[in-house]
Amino acid sequence: MAKETKKCSFCGRDASHAEVLISGIGAHICERCVEQAGLIVAEEKSMKGKTSIPSFKLLKPAEIKKSLDQYVIGQDDAKKVLSVAVYNHYKRINQPEQKKEEDDVEIEKSNIILVGETGTGKTLLARTIARLLKVPFCIADATVLTEAGYVGEDVESILARLLQVADYDVAAAERGIVFIDEVDKIARKSDNPSITRDVSGEGVQQALLKILEGSVVNVPPQGGRKHPEQKMIQVNTQNILFVCGGAFDGIEKKIASRIRANAIGYGVNKSELIDRENLLQYIAPQDLKSFGLIPELVGRLPVLTYLNPLDREVLRAILTEPKNSLIKQYVRLFEMDNITLKVDDEVLDFIVDKALEFKLGARGLRSICEVIMMEAMFEIPSQQKPMKEFRITLDYAMARLEKAKMNRLKVA
Ligand code: ADP
Repeated sequence: MAKETKKCSFCGRDASHAEVLISGIGAHICERCVEQAGLIVAEEKSMKGKTSIPSFKLLKPAEIKKSLDQYVIGQDDAKKVLSVAVYNHYKRINQPEQKKEEDDVEIEKSNIILVGETGTGKTLLARTIARLLKVPFCIADATVLTEAGYVGEDVESILARLLQVADYDVAAAERGIVFIDEVDKIARKSDNPSITRDVSGEGVQQALLKILEGSVVNVPPQGGRKHPEQKMIQVNTQNILFVCGGAFDGIEKKIASRIRANAIGYGVNKSELIDRENLLQYIAPQDLKSFGLIPELVGRLPVLTYLNPLDREVLRAILTEPKNSLIKQYVRLFEMDNITLKVDDEVLDFIVDKALEFKLGARGLRSICEVIMMEAMFEIPSQQKPMKEFRITLDYAMARLEKAKMNRLKVA
């Protein structure tokens, strides 16, 4: 009896020529046809998306701020500025096409730049807004971006990531939010001695400009570097909201010297009214330029706001107040094992003290909590006689931390 040879039912390729041949009910498909079909599906999906732009409920600025309050502690100025910017941005997108044509008032896009120490909530703000609006959201790190031709990721890879989170629905991605972290690290070196990387920041800034200002960009679907044979997906960035964030270490000096210059210029001594402790609140676009961002880029980030450093009170609130605060998360975890977790107030103060002592900021709160809870989370679930309540006292927390040699978390 002649042995039946399997063939791809789509391209007819013989099994012996295919790397992989997948069998279904009465048919086979080879790896090449699977890939091809994948691309067709992605394209179809994006076409469908184009015709049916999802409509969403536009929240008012006060509502946006109120929702942000549930997740982000403090940072009122940044929240207000962001709420208005996001509201205007989506109002602009939702404007009917016809109205846009009749009207000669064109509402320009308002990308945002957030300046504040690391760990003060910049990413958290952007992420919370995206979740609120139910739009695709992705985070990109400016430090991995390079000019075309250098080792690193092309700027377009940011959009590839957005496409991925939007499940390749181009229309959804085109209304998404992109958070670009550490933009301060691509500042021009001549103005910023703290930069040690040797890939020209200015080139990356120029490349970023292109996607920030609203243009049709060819995006390699898998991200990374572009290569000639790759199939590109076109993404229009006109309605994508870009939120940039950076610590801009040392920008206070630029702010201070500008304020001083202004005070002299007007012939009045305004210095007494100035809160020297937190100069960031006076930040202006020219300070970003002095720091080394090119003027064109600063121009494309018209909404500028700042975040306050987190003090003891805020850190304490971060532990317990947000809707998904750390402590609430641990309580839920223990609840799943039918155990009531109680954390003494003095333990919370102790955690904050340690975060401040080790200069770990809000991010440190989590690592400290993990160290304190670790042993209990390991032991309790497999106890013979399950306990009903687990209380963390100051002595217990101190002992755990001592044992874990917290010194390794200390910032040198
Ligand atoms: P940044 O982007 O400014 O470096 P993140 O937004 O990533 O900082 O903050 C790090 C973590 O610290 C967050 O995931 C969050 O748990 C916590 N955090 C920081 N700032 C706040 C805040 N103002 N309110 C609540 N949580 C915060």
